Amino acid sequence: MITDADHWRSRDLAVLWHPCTQMREHPDMLPLVPIARGEGAWLIAQDGRRYLDAVSSWWTNLFGHSEPRIAAAIAAQAGQLEQVMLAGFSHEPAVNLAERLLAIAPRETARPPLAKVFYADNGSAGVEVALKMAFHWFHNRGQPQRRKFVALENGYHGETLGALAVGDVPLYRRVYAPLLAEALFAPSPDAYLAAPGESAAARAERAAVALGELFASHDGEICALILEPRVQCAGGMRMHDPVYLKRARDLCDAHGVLLIADEIATGFGRTGTLFACEQAAIQPDLLCLSKGLTGGFLPLAAVLATQDIYDGFLDASRERAFLHSHSYTGNPLACAAALASLDIFESDAVLARNRDTAAHMAALAAPLCDLANVADVRQAGMIVAFELTHGGDRHTPFDPARRVGLHAYRAALARGVVLRPLGDIVYWMPPYCVTPDQLASLADTTRSAIEEATA
Ligand code: PMP
Repeated sequence: MITDADHWRSRDLAVLWHPCTQMREHPDMLPLVPIARGEGAWLIAQDGRRYLDAVSSWWTNLFGHSEPRIAAAIAAQAGQLEQVMLAGFSHEPAVNLAERLLAIAPRETARPPLAKVFYADNGSAGVEVALKMAFHWFHNRGQPQRRKFVALENGYHGETLGALAVGDVPLYRRVYAPLLAEALFAPSPDAYLAAPGESAAARAERAAVALGELFASHDGEICALILEPRVQCAGGMRMHDPVYLKRARDLCDAHGVLLIADEIATGFGRTGTLFACEQAAIQPDLLCLSKGLTGGFLPLAAVLATQDIYDGFLDASRERAFLHSHSYTGNPLACAAALASLDIFESDAVLARNRDTAAHMAALAAPLCDLANVADVRQAGMIVAFELTHGGDRHTPFDPARRVGLHAYRAALARGVVLRPLGDIVYWMPPYCVTPDQLASLADTTRSAIEEATA
């Protein structure tokens, strides 16, 4: 066992290439924190220091680290069946999970329900599945000219080339742009971009008009619209009025376009309802789930599709089948974790508890609006975001060279809290087990970190 943290760090940096990291910033600008174990909302370092995981380890964790019931379910499954290919074979966790996901998926009574589940093994892979399915479905129907995807400005759907092509966060996309399939981008309904005096709903309506115009100018060429319902997470926790989703659903129907809801980050209670689509009472044609799907224990994605989409692939020809495959599709351990996580939603009345927690978060966040360099504080359920700008003026962002977000990260880490700002946007997205005391200390630390980073 390695006990000396410095020795451990040098071993790490000698061999590991970390994700989403400019490695040159290690170790001087960015401390590397060796974590030995997790417990509830805490990450516990090798030197015994405790860090409150206020971002749920990239938004995956739901009920706390090492949640015993999920851990036990994985252990039991591992002793039974760890993996089998899902082509030609089946197993209980995959079927049980599919049944349960379909039973809780967003539902519009006037529409046939989501009826089939296709598994993949991470969020980006799930997005690839949905994009390919949408295109291939139209292809099979004799409409191969429907090959354009519409996505929203400032949206994010993952890092693989297909997912990046429908993403619009320049930091991740720009360098790979020459490799990416062309997508059409519609204005984001983002309420932060509302004109002075314009309500969030009016902003959403205005963005929907622009979406309608885009659809009309490419009629018959578009196969799908992909969006993150309610919150553009990686784009800076930018939130929109649910009315946009309703309008987008109607426009998709009017133009024969499939609607892909990417609930990889917003799903499983993050925005206050089990799925964000529920807030607009809409049902997508394809629903992408991952991250919290397994309670944050194991990588797994699920793409839920309508019967109509599924039927479009049934044919004597193999080429008309959806041949997409990943080795670990529907991994039994990951499915067992997901089933245990769904059990916890039921046994612990999680959504009701989250409503109280979210109200508490709102109360603690409100006073931070008064900080000099905070332009906006916004919330959707278990997500709260603080937009930092110069003097709190929406039109005067900080010079990116100041690295305000990085400074806030370091300041919070030094105080035992993991905040990982998106640019200059600091946010809370804690595990649902977070306690009032932990939230109070999170609010104190956030205040100090913002003050220190923006001073
Ligand atoms: N879609 C959304 C909305 C996401 O937030 C993310 C991850 N941040 C992804 C897709 C990609 O998921 P993964 O990181 O598992 O590939």
